[in-house]
Amino acid sequence: MATSDDTRCAILAYHKIGEPPHGTWQTWNYVPTDTFIAHLELLAGDGWQVISLDTLVAAMAGEATLPERSAVLTFDDGYQSMLTVAEPVLAKFGHPSVLFVPTEYVGGVNSFDTGSEPEEPICTWDELRELQRRGCAVQSHSAGHRSFDDLSLEDQVDEAVRSKQVMEEHLDHRIHSFSFPFGARGNEGDKLDTALQEAGYEAAFRYHGGVQMFSGADAFSLRRVPVGPDTDLRRQLGKEPK
Ligand SMILES: [Zn+2]
Repeated sequence: MATSDDTRCAILAYHKIGEPPHGTWQTWNYVPTDTFIAHLELLAGDGWQVISLDTLVAAMAGEATLPERSAVLTFDDGYQSMLTVAEPVLAKFGHPSVLFVPTEYVGGVNSFDTGSEPEEPICTWDELRELQRRGCAVQSHSAGHRSFDDLSLEDQVDEAVRSKQVMEEHLDHRIHSFSFPFGARGNEGDKLDTALQEAGYEAAFRYHGGVQMFSGADAFSLRRVPVGPDTDLRRQLGKEPK
């Protein structure tokens, strides 16, 4: 049986669950733990089934079928709070998740966000391996977290290839998915899609776009629903998908 033509994919894009570090400031990228729990309850109550990234990628290759309302929980940047705050909540619900990490910042801090976001530790390789053991798919968010809008095609490909190699060395699993830093796909269109495919990627994620129909989804430009503390998730999930 093939995945139904009516299948909708809600790929949610979070950054951080919980509170900012003491003495810093609140930003839209922090979703309070209670709000996050409410989101997961809303998904369950409205019939959205949380699927793993591997299931989504397999379905795009025609090797798996999806529930008619499929949700994927993604987190960008690899903050340590993924392990300490988000993962325990996900474990209670039994949900798989996806973490996109910029490899040059593993074990460091988010200096790509200086001034706009409080400084916070990014997971170490050990912590990323621990997350993998707990059902979190750790995948690429480039090497240097630079906007593809500012890079040549050659540099874009270098970011994708280098991060994949480093991650596969440290994590011992296949890197097949990429999320664009700042959601920026650059201006190379199909050329970039082809290069990502040649590098061994099967999926790439934007930051915006909303819920999408699975049948028309572009594997290298997958839409996501950015989620912040004030997001009306029911309204976002109820919008007519493209
Ligand atoms: Zn990012």
